[in-house]
Amino acid sequence: MNMVSSIPQNTDPFALAKELSGFHLIDGEMVKAVSGKTFDVVNPATGAVIGQAADGDEADVDRAVQSAAAAQKAWKKMPARERGKLVAECGRRLTEHVEELARLIALETGKALRTESRVEANVLADAFVFYGGLASELKGESVPFNPNMLTVTQREPIGVVGAIIPWNVPLMLMALKIAPALVAGNTVVVKSAEEAPLTVLRVCQIMNEVLPKGCFNILSGFGPECGGPLVAHPKVGKVTFTGSVETGKIVSKAAAEKLIPVTLELGGKSPMIVFADADLDKAVAGAVAGVRFTRQGQSCTASSRIYVHESIHDEFVAKLKAKADAMKMGDPLDEETDIGTIVSPDQMERVKGYIQKGIDAGGTANLCSALPDDPALKKGLYVQPVIFTDISADAPPSREEIFGPVTCVFKFTDYEQVIEAANDSEFGLAATVWTKDLHTAMDATQRLEAGFVQVNQNLVVQPNLSYGGIKKSGIGREASLEAMLEHFTHKKTIIFNMG
Ligand code: ADP
Repeated sequence: MNMVSSIPQNTDPFALAKELSGFHLIDGEMVKAVSGKTFDVVNPATGAVIGQAADGDEADVDRAVQSAAAAQKAWKKMPARERGKLVAECGRRLTEHVEELARLIALETGKALRTESRVEANVLADAFVFYGGLASELKGESVPFNPNMLTVTQREPIGVVGAIIPWNVPLMLMALKIAPALVAGNTVVVKSAEEAPLTVLRVCQIMNEVLPKGCFNILSGFGPECGGPLVAHPKVGKVTFTGSVETGKIVSKAAAEKLIPVTLELGGKSPMIVFADADLDKAVAGAVAGVRFTRQGQSCTASSRIYVHESIHDEFVAKLKAKADAMKMGDPLDEETDIGTIVSPDQMERVKGYIQKGIDAGGTANLCSALPDDPALKKGLYVQPVIFTDISADAPPSREEIFGPVTCVFKFTDYEQVIEAANDSEFGLAATVWTKDLHTAMDATQRLEAGFVQVNQNLVVQPNLSYGGIKKSGIGREASLEAMLEHFTHKKTIIFNMG
């Protein structure tokens, strides 16, 4: 393998978007859709078309899956540490390309370069390095079954993994699926999100310099036309999906038809509870990070329900609003911009619809920050973040996932009631608790119904921490060694009768 990438970094995202236009990457080659069709990729900050994506359908899916199935035969036979070295080498090369990846993802999704896109591109590279190092942890066990029989288990790859990813953090979410899948000896076909097909294609192009052809293929296309056939393809043995609850159900049913395992990372309506004794400034900073103002709230773990003790409620809201007001909305590619755009016109309508429903339900919509005044951004998908106060717990913004820059702040007085209110949700992805009291922290972390609970902090997903939800937030976990073992391998039991 050539240790130096022959792909030069291209930090002009407009030129790069054109260069990548109209292709899938299948069997190590940039190829057009079999139908020849494409769809536009739009810059959400201006409404301008920046390129095209190949519009994949069943025929493209079949090409990609056949290629992955053929590649898997040799890939699974490679010693695990050799696979790990190649995946880690992908991470190293992706690190060299962080700046171009960050600029391109900012262009196609509208996420601000400094606060969001560059961070995500680094997490992508880090996930490959992390999983590359875990290859020798694909261990089995020896089982004390019978002294005359050597009984062992070993981890084996599942085969071809179909991965369907969303647009909000496509680089990070793709990495957390494909890196463990590949290290475990599977090959992968990814279906990218309609709104963000180009940067993930670039990632695939960089990785294909390192990986044997066919190990990692990527298709762009629409959900039912391209994602549907991927889940249904007879040679796909595992599906990993991140997206909405409704689509998750469709994917899960289709996987059930084939009786194959599926991992689902779905929505959230994550509570943040701020007790009277909390360090207020720390909690406010945690809320700024937790609401994901810089990502326009487009996160499944967003702290979209904030419960604040009544003794500090007004001060908390005033400080939170002041922080949000100080954030600059603007061109995602401008280093000064804190908050970029919403990803698409449909998503913008949805967010505005929820803001209106909250107002109609009697909530007070505190508008934050300010729309950019640059005439070039007149058609940009900018929405001022909203902090709802005095809103009923039953209003749509209080209960449903918005996936936008909207949070609801509620007053509470009673401990039991706030725990009950926090758990009164169909979701169970994440929660945070803010207190200096150890007893309160211990009790709340035990009782909150969520897959990830943090006290006095609001870290985002880390490659080495297991991540995923309960209830309608999904099935299975991503990130960590556990995700690789449990979701991308099966355990074979082998008995040698030596008696
Ligand atoms: P969002 O509303 O956030 O776009 P979706 O769940 O619709 O969330 O989309 C997440 C991913 O699922 C996207 O890549 C999308 O194309 C894909 N998808 C949508 N519908 C289907 C489907 N019927 N089968 C498989 N994948 C789908």
